[in-house]
Amino acid sequence: MEKNFILETVVKEMRTGVVVLDVAGSVRYANPFFVKSFPVKDGVVGRNLSEFIKNTDLKKAVEDLVRSGVGGGGDGGGRGGGGDGGETTDIEINEGGRFFNVRVVPLREGEEFGLLLFLKDITEEKRVEAIKRDFVANVSHELRTPLASIKGYSETLLDGGIEKSRQSEFLRVIDRHATRMSRIIDDLLILSKLESHTMPIITTPVDIKELLASTRKGFEKQARDKGIRLTSGIPYGLPGVSGDRDRLEQVVANLLDNAIKYTPSGGEVHISATAEGSTVRVDVKDTGIGIPEEDMPRIFERFYRVDKARSRELGGTGLGLAIVKHIVHGHNGRLHVESTPGVGSTFSIMIPSVDKDRR
Ligand code: ADP
Repeated sequence: MEKNFILETVVKEMRTGVVVLDVAGSVRYANPFFVKSFPVKDGVVGRNLSEFIKNTDLKKAVEDLVRSGVGGGGDGGGRGGGGDGGETTDIEINEGGRFFNVRVVPLREGEEFGLLLFLKDITEEKRVEAIKRDFVANVSHELRTPLASIKGYSETLLDGGIEKSRQSEFLRVIDRHATRMSRIIDDLLILSKLESHTMPIITTPVDIKELLASTRKGFEKQARDKGIRLTSGIPYGLPGVSGDRDRLEQVVANLLDNAIKYTPSGGEVHISATAEGSTVRVDVKDTGIGIPEEDMPRIFERFYRVDKARSRELGGTGLGLAIVKHIVHGHNGRLHVESTPGVGSTFSIMIPSVDKDRR
C-alpha cells in the first residue's frame, strides 16, 4: 500500500482536528474532524483561521511562529517542527463551550513555510477534572463541619469547668457528629466501590416481594416513632427481578429512609410494585415536603441537597440518591421521580424482571 494513501487515511479518520495554515494564517487544508468541530458556511479552506477561532492566545502564537518562521527560515533546510521555524507550541482554547488542546507545529519544505495545527477535544477530560476537584472539595467540607464540632466540644470538656450535669449533653453532641462522619465515610466507600467496579453487580433472580417486605420491616420503628403511616401494596404473582439482592435492598432502603425523613409527622409512605413490560416497577410514594422543580435535575448528584441544613439535621449525607442512581443504572434499570412541593414525591425504579422460564 502506498505511504501517502495510508497517511491520508490516518489524517482523515483521526479524532483530532488537523489544519494546515499558510503564512497569511489562511487554511490550506482541514481534516473532516476539524470541519465537523468548526462548522463554517462554505467551508474553512481559504478562510483565515481567526475568522472562526477567536482565541487571542492562539492568534498570537500563530503570528509569532509565522514571524519567526518567515524571518528565520529559507535556508532550504529540514522539514517539520522546531529548528529555524520556531518552537512547537501548545495552547488550550475554549471555543463555544468546548475545550481544545491546540498544538501548533512549524512546517517547512524548502522555501515554503506554513503551520500545522492539531486540535484535540478535551471537553470531556475537563468536565471529569472539574467533577473530581469539586468532589474532593465537597468531601473535605462535609467532613470538616462535624469534625470542627467534635473538636470544639471535646476541647471545652477537657478544659474542665463544665458542670457534671451538662457533660453528658456535650458527649451526646460529640457522638452525633461522629455518627454523621462515619455515615458519610460509609456512603463514600459504597460509592467508591460501585464506581471502581471492585464489587461488580452480580445478578441472580431476586424475590422482590420478599425484599420489599423485609426492607419495609426495618423501617417500621422509624416511621412509627415519627408518626408516619407505612403502607404497601404488592400484587400477588409479581415476577422476580434479575438483580443483586443486597444492592437492591440498599436502593429501597435509601428511598424509604428519604421518604420518611422528608415527610412530616402525620403523613404516609406507601411502597408498591407492579410488573411493567419486561421490568418490575417499584414506587416509593410519600406525602412529604416535595422537591422544587428547579432542584429536580440535581438531586442525584453527590452532596446535592435542596435544603442543606434540614438534610443534616435529619442525619442525611447527601449521597443516598447518588448511590441509588449508580445501582439502578448498574442493573440496566431506570429511575423516575415525580414531586410536587407541599404535596409529596414518588420515586420509581424499573428493574429488569427475571426471564419467564426462570420465574
Ligand atoms: P440526603 O442524605 O440529604 O437525604 P440524598 O442524596 O438521599 O441525600 O437526597 C438528596 C436530596 O434530595 C435531599 O437532601 C433532599 O433535599 C431531596 N430528597 C430526596 N428524597 C426526597 C423526598 N422523598 N422528599 C423530598 N425531598 C427529597
